[in-house]
Amino acid sequence: MKAIVKQHPSRGLTFVENAPIPEPKAGEVQVKITHTAICGSDLHIYQWNEWAQNTLSPPVTVGHEFVGQIAKLGPGVKGWQVGERVSGEGHLVCEKCRNCRAGKRHLCIRTQGIGIHTNGAFAEFMCIPATNLYRIPPAIPNNIAAMLDPFGNAVHTALAFPVIGEDILITGAGPIGIMAGLVAQHTGARHVVITDIQAERLKLAHQLGIPHAVHSDSVTIQAKMKELGIQSGFDVGFEMSGNSQAIEVMLQHMHHGSSIALLGVASGKIQLNLNEIVFKSISLRGIYGREIFETWYKMIAMLEGGLDISSLITHELAAKNFEQGISLLEQGKALKVILTWET
Ligand SMILES: [Zn+2]
Ligand SMILES: [Zn+2]
Repeated sequence: MKAIVKQHPSRGLTFVENAPIPEPKAGEVQVKITHTAICGSDLHIYQWNEWAQNTLSPPVTVGHEFVGQIAKLGPGVKGWQVGERVSGEGHLVCEKCRNCRAGKRHLCIRTQGIGIHTNGAFAEFMCIPATNLYRIPPAIPNNIAAMLDPFGNAVHTALAFPVIGEDILITGAGPIGIMAGLVAQHTGARHVVITDIQAERLKLAHQLGIPHAVHSDSVTIQAKMKELGIQSGFDVGFEMSGNSQAIEVMLQHMHHGSSIALLGVASGKIQLNLNEIVFKSISLRGIYGREIFETWYKMIAMLEGGLDISSLITHELAAKNFEQGISLLEQGKALKVILTWET
């Protein structure tokens, strides 16, 4: 089968024509992949940055944002039919640790990522535990279904704290930041302000429906607050940048008693102004992945309820042309790139 594989511990990914088709083990299903989306982490794997070097052991088929049809059921799988359209949770959990046994699978201490620790979705076929599947309703098109994984990150972040009637500050106007902003607006936030240092990204955020997209320096944020009548700071922050300077500016503009959901991953250790957090009684919460199927349920409910994220998709390419998608993402010219696997 065709697959996109990290073959060597160096920059790049290879489009392979003759990868072996995986057979489903007990409890697994084989999915025939039709559409996938390129994630920021796939870009890091391509670039072979420090995180990728410390995390992946090539060769591994990459990719974790997918939709497809069930092609085969492994031994013991019940409740699923061949031909059903599915996406699924890309985090594999151990089912044995304290959190898994308590029903908090999203807090598993041994989480593994498909397309990172095990062979992933950038292939014609992938095997995944049936417990990770999510059935896609007919109203959700394939290109949207292929990006439910990052949309789930956005939903998990945006709903981490109550946003109804609140003023929201988002640091980082990448796809997840923009989607989290759209979710906050959809669920009743008063004002959503998104910041970045790249003018191109701010322009996109504005075009995609977040009216207050501004540069992340203090003076600009203060001017925006004045314009919107935000007197003493933002109520909820979504930190998407992992950048210490952005976090510092965010802390300076948060209200006393406010909350920040942190999704951005820092490239190393960063410094925080602890006193700003202590004296303002700010609550911080790390966000990783999704709250598994609680988040998936909410995602589908919001999409079916009219939340439109389709404009996030800037490019759709045949899978064999994935290099073009990587290059567009590297240049900041794309948000979500969909790769199609249908022949
Ligand atoms: Zn992803
Ligand atoms: Zn576990």
